[in-house]
This record gives sequence, structure tokens and C-alpha cells, in this order.
Amino acid sequence: MAYLVLARKFRPALLNEVVGQQHITKTLKNAITSGRVGHAFLFSGPRGVGKTTTARILAKALNCENGPTATPCNECVNCLQISAGSYLDVIEIDGASNNGVENVREIREQVRFAPAAGRYKIYIIDEVHMLSNPAFNALLKTLEEPPEHVKFIFATTEAHKLPATILSRCQRYDFNKIPITDIIGNLEQISQKEGININKNSLHRIARAAEGSLRDAQSIFDQILSSCGQQVDDSEVKRILGIIDRTLIESVAQAIISHNGEQVLRLVEQLMEYGGNPIYFTQQLMGYFRQLLLLKLCQKPDDLLEVTDEELAVLHTQAKDVSVPELIQLIKIMLENEAALRMTLNQRITLEIILLKLSQLKPLLPIEEILDRLTALESSTPKNYSAIHVEPERPQITDTGVPQTLKPDPAPTFTPVPKPESVPVQYSSPIKEQ
Ligand SMILES: [Zn+2]
Repeated sequence: MAYLVLARKFRPALLNEVVGQQHITKTLKNAITSGRVGHAFLFSGPRGVGKTTTARILAKALNCENGPTATPCNECVNCLQISAGSYLDVIEIDGASNNGVENVREIREQVRFAPAAGRYKIYIIDEVHMLSNPAFNALLKTLEEPPEHVKFIFATTEAHKLPATILSRCQRYDFNKIPITDIIGNLEQISQKEGININKNSLHRIARAAEGSLRDAQSIFDQILSSCGQQVDDSEVKRILGIIDRTLIESVAQAIISHNGEQVLRLVEQLMEYGGNPIYFTQQLMGYFRQLLLLKLCQKPDDLLEVTDEELAVLHTQAKDVSVPELIQLIKIMLENEAALRMTLNQRITLEIILLKLSQLKPLLPIEEILDRLTALESSTPKNYSAIHVEPERPQITDTGVPQTLKPDPAPTFTPVPKPESVPVQYSSPIKEQ
């Protein structure tokens, strides 16, 4: 038997089986059960999240011999033919290649005739936003007064491109990107059914690479299975996904946080040996600092972080050594230097300079601490003296119990961003050394 790709083999046959779109499938089920099914639906959302799949299930629900029913039998001739794409009364049209007014006129001619076999004639138009304006105008006439036996299901990734006149005549359903945990759950089920041995970290990597698209996740999984067979090795998953080893990113972040320039250079050497791309690497590193920031700022960051338990443990440890203003500063500098990295002829040196700048970033004192010290300073100074002498010298601040390595330069530490002339490296401007 020919190999069937996972996305087709495991395509949901019931609304309950559609992954990560419960808000939509629940409403549709209620509509079907209560007999309040509209005549035009708009399914909008990113690609690969179940729009066409849901459209086909809805078509089955309406035309099943045992229906209309929220749970089509998937066994009757109608259901089987709709699943196979050979049912005469479910017409799937690709809006991108049939976008002219003549295509819509053809639909308008056809809708007048009763369904050949089923209860409803159902038109599923994919990428409907690609229709031309005259085509939309022609479609509008049909949408205004559709025959009883006709249903339209439009699918689009770009609902904002649809004319308001069309939008206002559709029941709109917004499909979400699929949460990473749902994608992992789906891949786990597939692995069990197919007898595939794969660890949770690998599943996590695949799900993360798919960026919310179940179809992408399944096709990446297909690709990995064709390379690995039933026994999936995590290093092979990383190789196929082109993932830079997370531990390298963790190590570079650690070197930057602990101001270890030598270690930074050694790790860049490792990255280059590994064949890593500096641009991709900085994006990953920026993402990593963002995760640290989320961890520090959010009460329950787990659903935002999308990391494995081991990765979370490392983040927790590192988060203790870095403050929120420092993280913001690190990300800011990386953003400012992104363009330089893209344009330079020597990415390696540019990357090294950027990372060294990050590692030399002076720790910033929290504003509360600065205020506390100022208050302490004021109260310990004679009244008639304070106004004149607090501002220029501030001797107490540099002599407090700040550890030697964290001790700021003699320059004032009151302002959140050090003044350019007082600091050896200017952080806020893009690199000019190149
Ligand atoms: Zn059926």
C-alpha cells in the first residue's frame, strides 16, 4: 500500500477530533444540533490549523445519511465519498486559481440546481481572499439570496482582505494557532498508534518548529520518520530541524550574564565549528533573553515559555543572576545591532563584538535601591549641607557593600543608562567598528 502522509492518515473525522479549536467545534456542534446552521461560513486563521478539515467535517455533518448530525457516521456512502473528495454535492474550489468573475458566474449557474444526492450543495472555497473584486461582486448576489439547499464555507488566511459586504453575510469563525501542548499531544498519539519510539524533548522540538501549525508539525514528523524509521534519535531531530543546540545558547547567555568575555569567545568558536549561522544564533539568543524576562515578569509564565522541564530549570537558575532592566538592555542592544550583523562581510567578528558588548554591560542598580541610598544619604548629612553636596560626589554609593565585580565605574550610577563619556563602550549605538 502506498505511504500515506501523517496529515492525511490522521485527519480528524469528527469535530471532537479537531485539535486546538474547541471554541469553534463546540459552536458548530450546537448550531447543527439546534438546526441553526447559517448559509455562509467564514473560517479564517493561519495555515495548517484545521480550517479545511473542519469544513469537510461540517459538510459530512450536513449530508450524512444519518444527519444532519453533529457526529457524522463516517460510514455511509455520503460520508465516505466526502472524505475521499469524490462527492458530487461538495465542491471544493481553490480561490487562488479560480479567482475570476467567470468562475463565480459558473457557481451562480450551478447553485440553482438541486443537490445530486445529498441534502445540501456545499461549496468550500479555499483562499477566498484571492478572488478579484468583480468576482466578489458576483458572489455577493448569490450570498444575498442563496437557495435553501446551498451552503458556502469560505476559508482564508487573510480575512482582512475580504470586502465588508462579504464579511457581513458570513458567520465568522477565527481559528487559532494551535497551542504547543496540543501539538505535542497529537504527535504523541500518532507515535503510539504507529509504534514509534521518540522522546518528549524531540516531540517538543518538532512542535516548537511548527509554530502553531499542526499540518507543519505532522509533515516535519513525516520527514524525521523517513530519515530515522521507528526509532527516533534526538540528535537526528536537531540536525533535521537545523536547531542550534540549546545548551550552547544557555552557555552563551550564562557567559554574558557573568561578564565572562573569554568564555563568550570560546563559545563563538564552538558555534562556528558546528557550522552555526550567526544571524540565526542571535535570534535564538534574543529569544532566550526574552524567556528570562518572561520568567521574571510573569506569575505563571509556563504557557508563554514553551520549554521543556529541563530547559525551565536552567532558566530559573539564570534568572536569579540577572535583573529585569539588565535583560531589557541586553535585548535592546541586540535589536540595535541586528542590522549590522546582516550587513557585515565578517559575521563572526561582528557577532563576537556584539556578544562582548553584552558581556561588558554594567549591572544596573534597581531604582528602589538608588532611592533608598539617596534617602539614607540625605538623612546622614547635616541639613544646611545636603543641598549642595549630595549631587556631585555621592561618595557613599560607590563605597557600599556592592561586590567588587559588580562595582560600577567611578561615574555616577544614578541614571539607569550610563552616560556615554563615562563608560568604555557605548551600548546604545549600532556597531561602528566594521
Ligand atoms: Zn454518514
